[in-house]
Amino acid sequence: MPIKVGVVGYGTIGARIADAVMKQPDMELIGIAKTTPDYKAKTAVSRGIKIFIPENSIESWKKAGIKVDGVVEDLVREADVIVDATPKGVGKANSEIYKKEGRIAIFQGGEKKDLVEATVVAQVNYNEARGKRMIRVPSCNTTALSRISWFLEREYGVERIIATIARRAADPADKKEGIIDNIEFDPIKPPSHHGEDVRTVLKNLNIFTTAIKIPTTHAHLHLINAKLRKKASREEIIDALSEERRIMLVSSEDGITTTADVFELSRHLGRPMNNIYENVIWIESIHSDGEWVYLAQAVHQEAIVVPENIDAIRAVASTLDAESSMNTTDRTLGIVKGRI
Ligand code: NAD
Repeated sequence: MPIKVGVVGYGTIGARIADAVMKQPDMELIGIAKTTPDYKAKTAVSRGIKIFIPENSIESWKKAGIKVDGVVEDLVREADVIVDATPKGVGKANSEIYKKEGRIAIFQGGEKKDLVEATVVAQVNYNEARGKRMIRVPSCNTTALSRISWFLEREYGVERIIATIARRAADPADKKEGIIDNIEFDPIKPPSHHGEDVRTVLKNLNIFTTAIKIPTTHAHLHLINAKLRKKASREEIIDALSEERRIMLVSSEDGITTTADVFELSRHLGRPMNNIYENVIWIESIHSDGEWVYLAQAVHQEAIVVPENIDAIRAVASTLDAESSMNTTDRTLGIVKGRI
């Protein structure tokens, strides 16, 4: 029996998760919950996706002439697992509906860690989600930092990580948010919240993060310095990273020198919605003095959490082990490993 999945919130993240669910052989998308009868609702209907709405919005959907399949509570009752991808804070309010209906729920990084029983990045702590009713997939920055920190910790042992995060100011589709010609401290008094959030996944990691917001929309950029317990040369690190799941190694020799090139690469790879699910690390940026390692990685904030949500669904609603789940997710989404 496929896992029945409902997606609540059909925005930047929710729409991508719904798409990814439809590609899984062991999952069925029951439908999406949406508040606004807009073009995204129309395209979803044209693709055969069922739409569930808040009861008090029936009139606006009738007026827009969009056929709906029920109210949000119907979707929650029909699904085995709800993935909540609503804006920050809304998930907490929705959690009461999921609890009332006795459903398992997966929340996103905008929700506070206290709302859930575990925060999960598949490569690191898939098994922590087992048997839980409410879990969270962390934010895009935390997901990317957790993946690379876990790699360094597992392979070499980490004494200390110091990371600088240049954050995209808004998503490409945002109309109301964002800085235009400015660089904003995020916050000016260190550390940024990201290090603490990484510790919801990697509990004992000694990580310190600072962040600034920059006027760009298509990616974050992380500059990472890690002090390792075991000495490792640059070549050793590149070899090991080439074998690491969900890490894409790119090179300036191929003309990939900026985050704009990474965005363009996603188009050439034929990725839906320009999705880049991998941490994109520049080979040339990797530097080691034997003790401290430095590297730079780009993070496509709109897509990196998508495979994590798919694995989180299996972790809470199936008996499949982490490796098998990630193998299926990576195959169905076309996720690459190593040098592109
Ligand atoms: P978004 O604003 O693009 O999408 C949220 C959608 O939910 C909107 O379409 C909104 O109309 C809808 N919505 C609001 N209230 C609702 C309700 N009660 N029922 C159903 N739908 C409702 O937001 P997003 O960027 O997709 O973020 C969603 C979550 O994912 C947040 O927790 C965010 O922190 C997290 N996240 C965002 C990014 C990113 O870069 N955009 C990356 C990783 C994680």
